[in-house]
Amino acid sequence: MISLAEAEALDDADPLRAQRARFRLPEGVIYLDGNSLGALPEAAVGIARDAVERQWGEDLIRSWNSNDWIGAPQRVGAKIATLIGAKPNEVVVADSTSVNLFKLVVAAARLAPDRPRIVTETGNFPTDLQIASGAAALLPGGSFEAVPTDEIEDAFDGRTGVIVLTHVHYKTARRHDMARLTALARERGIRLIWDLSHSAGAIELDLARDGVELAIGCGYKYLNGGPGAPAFLHVAEHLHGTLLSPLTGWMGHAAPFDFADAYEPAPGIRRFLCGTPPVLGLLTLEAGVDEFMAADRAEIWAKSVRLFDLFAMLAADRLPDMECVTPADSRARGSHISFAHADAWPICQALIAKGVIGDFRAPDILRFGLTPLYLGYADVWRAVDILAGLIASGEWRDPRYAERRAVT
Ligand SMILES: *Cc1c(COP(=O)(O)O)cnc(C)c1O
Repeated sequence: MISLAEAEALDDADPLRAQRARFRLPEGVIYLDGNSLGALPEAAVGIARDAVERQWGEDLIRSWNSNDWIGAPQRVGAKIATLIGAKPNEVVVADSTSVNLFKLVVAAARLAPDRPRIVTETGNFPTDLQIASGAAALLPGGSFEAVPTDEIEDAFDGRTGVIVLTHVHYKTARRHDMARLTALARERGIRLIWDLSHSAGAIELDLARDGVELAIGCGYKYLNGGPGAPAFLHVAEHLHGTLLSPLTGWMGHAAPFDFADAYEPAPGIRRFLCGTPPVLGLLTLEAGVDEFMAADRAEIWAKSVRLFDLFAMLAADRLPDMECVTPADSRARGSHISFAHADAWPICQALIAKGVIGDFRAPDILRFGLTPLYLGYADVWRAVDILAGLIASGEWRDPRYAERRAVT
């Protein structure tokens, strides 16, 4: 079995090692929750200060032009596009993932009034199920169905207009076959919307190669945008002229500063903006995304696989009571590793008290995000070591770890 010294040697040889110093990671903490809230890029501190003190404080409203606040949704969108294999003009940053999903579900459903059914999978991230069902309720004749994942292909039929799938599952990290399902959807005349919340910045994506037409994703997870950072939305160029956002706000207007009464959609991706962009969150998101622009991205994806394999190997040896629920095949998973255990909640709390921050997902999942930009092999080694020690000692049985908090 690999030793701590061997794990440290892997870190020494890691071409991404210098990236770690670009993030603020508190002393004594092993951060395995960057899939839920990415760590703070050191550069974001200066960017946020400049955005507040100089851009807002001194330049005031002139900043919309002089600091290009107005261009930020598309500028940051173009950077995210390079990260997910899309064209720069196919991605825009706006709103939350939930709101972006709503815009795309309604826009896509309206293109196919003769196929009123909207489908997703049971056990999808709650907002995906809830937004899709809420959107269906608004559409004339609309219906909503959640089907089990292993039956999802049966729903690619003539009644279905829109399907919403999360590429990498938030609990298990199971990954759908994007190319195959996208091809199937297009062949059957269905608009498939991919939620990339646990994929973007975690694994290699090539939306153009895979023929993806519609996607959304989160800004504060692997992209390190900061708490509540805005999300992104992708629409393939060939749909720009036909797809209309149901949230016809002025920032998506062809000429917002003409102040016209009537809505006229902007010609490109900008039509998917609604109101004034959240500038501070956009700028910290840009700082997070820039960390990917600067690094060797092929190395990032490769390191995600290696961090996972190390975690899985150590866990198989030292955590015999933990059942790994993430697929072993690197092509069939994302960049987090999850275990099922009846006492996942108190174990997770006890682990956090020891400085290893992972998270719990009800009812019984212990989840660890493996973020290649700032996590090392020795971090993984130590985390498994601490977890094994905790389980052996039974410390997690202390009643203070049983109490549930509002956010898990
Ligand atoms: C995190 C996550 C979201 C988040 O949605 P918000 O609107 O930002 O709260 C949505 N979908 C999935 C699959 C996620 O993992």
